[in-house]
This record gives sequence, C-alpha cells and structure tokens, in this order.
Amino acid sequence: MPYQQGSRLPGEHASRLGHLDILDYSLVNELLESFKRQYVPDECLTVEWQEMLDPGEPLKYIFAVDGSLQRIDHDSVPYSSIAFIKTAMIKLDTHALARVDKENPHPFVLRDILRESVIFHATLLPLRNTWSEGSNIYDTVRQTIYKSICDTSPGMNGQILETLKWLAYRKWGETKRSLPEFECPHGHEGSKHLTTLPYDAECGRCPTCGKEVYITDFLGFHLEMGEEAVSPTIASTYMILHETLLLFTAIRLFWENHRELLTECLFLKDGPLSIRAQYSKLVEPIRLFLAYAQENGYPIHIIGQEKSGTFYDHLQFIGKDAPTMSYLILQDLYIKRHIQCRPENGAPYGKDTNYGAKVFVKLNNYHMMVLNVPFGLYTQNPRSEDLIGWERIFATLLTILSNRYEGALLPIELANGIASLSTYPSAKILKLFSEEGLHP
Ligand SMILES: [Zn+2]
Repeated sequence: MPYQQGSRLPGEHASRLGHLDILDYSLVNELLESFKRQYVPDECLTVEWQEMLDPGEPLKYIFAVDGSLQRIDHDSVPYSSIAFIKTAMIKLDTHALARVDKENPHPFVLRDILRESVIFHATLLPLRNTWSEGSNIYDTVRQTIYKSICDTSPGMNGQILETLKWLAYRKWGETKRSLPEFECPHGHEGSKHLTTLPYDAECGRCPTCGKEVYITDFLGFHLEMGEEAVSPTIASTYMILHETLLLFTAIRLFWENHRELLTECLFLKDGPLSIRAQYSKLVEPIRLFLAYAQENGYPIHIIGQEKSGTFYDHLQFIGKDAPTMSYLILQDLYIKRHIQCRPENGAPYGKDTNYGAKVFVKLNNYHMMVLNVPFGLYTQNPRSEDLIGWERIFATLLTILSNRYEGALLPIELANGIASLSTYPSAKILKLFSEEGLHP
C-alpha cells in the first residue's frame, strides 16, 4: 500500500445540478450542522509519552515485505472477476543503505542494492464466473490457494509451504502434534464436522468423509465462500497471509541455519501485525515461537507499520505536542475508549488476532509513525520491557528513515515499489493478459 499523499480532495471537474437538491434538503442541512469533526479529549493530549534515553545498537540486516493486489472485472458476458496478487521481500544491509541519499535516492544505487536481494511471488484467484474444468468456484479457489502456497518457482522453492507447516505444526518444539481440528471443507452429515491432518502432512484424506483436505483449508478460506461466489476479501486475506509467511520464511531459515545472525536482523512488514477472524489460527503459534526464541536468547526484531487507519489518524492529532525521540505504548483501555470508541468492558483489544503491541513513535517533527512491535505471549497492557528488542529496533529506525514521505521507512518504500501491481505491469496489461487466457 502506498504512503498517503496530502489529504486535500482533488478539485471538482464538472458541476452537477443534482448537488443543488441535496444541499437544499433540510434533513441534510440539519445533520451537517450537528456533526462535529474528530473530537480528541484532553485526556489524550496529556497522556505521558516515554523518552527513548538510551537507544541500543542499530541492527545490521533488514528484511522488508509488502504486497499488492489488483482486481480485474471483465465487463462483457460472462462478467468474470479475478484478482492478481503479488508479494515481495527485499533484503538490505544498513551499511549499503547508508549510501542512499535520503531525499533523492539515485536509481542506480537502488538498482545495485536490489539486484541480488529481491524475491517475489505472484498468483491469481478467481472471484466470479471463473473455475477449473469439472469443478466449481469453491473447490477451484481452495485448490488455487493450496497450489499458490506450494509455489515452487525459483524465488519461492516451496519454502512458503514449509513455513506454513512449521508454524501450524509448531515444528521448532520437541512435541510432534497433529493439526488442531478445523471445519472440513466438504461438510459432513450429523454433528461431527471437524477434520484434521497428521503431523507434517500438507494434504490428506479427511478421516470422516474421505475427501481430499489441504493444509491451507486449516486457515479457513472456505468459511468465506459459497459454491457460486467468493467474497472479494479472500484476495486481500491471502495477500496478508502470504506476506506474513514470507517474513516468517526469512525468520525460519535464519533460525534453522544461522541462528547467530538472527538477532542482528530487523524484519519489517507493511501493515499491522495481526491476522483477522478465522485466519488468526496462525497468531498463537507465532506468539509462542517469538516467546520461545526470546527465552532461548534469540530476541527476534519485527515491526509492522500502519500507514493509514484509525490509529494513524489518532496519532496525527495527538503526536503534534509530543516530545521528540519519544514513544507511547497504547494500553487496552485507551484503545477501546479513544480509538475504537467501544464499550470498555468488551473483549480485550486484539486478544486473538494481534501478535504485536501498538506503539506511537515520534522521532522528530517530520517522522511520527504507528508501529506494531511483538510482545511474545499476549498481554493486555504491554510495557516497554515486554516489547521484544525494543531499544535496538528504535535505534535502527533512525538509520532507515526516508525523507520523501512523512513518517516513511526506506525499506518499506522500496518493498512497496517492488510489490506494486498498479504501476508495473499496469492494470490494463493485466486485463488484456487475463482476457487472452480466459476464452470461454
Ligand atoms: Zn470431511
């Protein structure tokens, strides 16, 4: 996702007579007058930010992940829709980054840095009126997701599947456990609707109905699909899951092969460190692994950056008056009361879905950001000592700032450029290309 541009609306091109009716309408006028702009109580402005007095030593290696998706609708019969999805990861070292001009990065310098250090994955998912021969859209999507996670192209080498198995079966530990039970995608008569797979399997037969089940079914995509239609959010969920798995593939490979270097890496993800709804099954294994690694002397440094949304908006209001080189770790009650505006006695914020705390950071007047930093096991009210490797992460932020956008981090900006589908190849090319391959 790109960094937000200015918030001013574009100029209007044509006057529309229809607007006159609406502006004269008394209900509309009454409502407009009654609404207030965002209201920030004094309580938020007086909340105490913590100063970072002693940032640690910056980390040496940086991995950044981003993704994009483009939905293509064909506007002639049979009105099909498909979504193209791309994810990318780049590896950088802070030494090389130091050579980059933060205001005007030279394209050749960037090209040299990125030449050896980019991997990406691309796939597509059918959303409407598109399916494989002899199948329906429900099974086509299930199979396509499985096949995409298995991606064996040169950059991926089947490693994403290995990472999914590693997390789902918690393979860093000693005990060999089968997959926690999940809803069988084929549905069963009677009350037993759950299924599972034995340790380390990527697919197999359901013990109850005997039909084929994939490890990707465990994530629950089929709970969001009907036989004829697919919720478009499946594409964005796939993208977020793939980004997460890509990041954890780098972490897993270091853990297995170069554990001594793992603690010198910073892993950056565009967007929050959370996985929503039924897909959150990966959150618990992620938290357990991060806690396990830290207990064993390997703190893993990860941040997610939120560049839009309610937390971002709130920071724009309260960050102005905060001191520089400071941070604020948001507590459960504060989030419910001032950001989500929901009842305070409801479920703790992010209990099932988040593997990071929300942290506002203000480095200087141009660089304020909303970060997510992992805390290992879930805690409702994280403190700075709960944030894994926080001092070193903070110190590294200062070395990877970009001056092209407010609050921007150069590795995320670069990953965004690589993962972007909207600029290259253009949406139009994708459309022509998919029409070519989709003759009825
Ligand atoms: Zn079954």
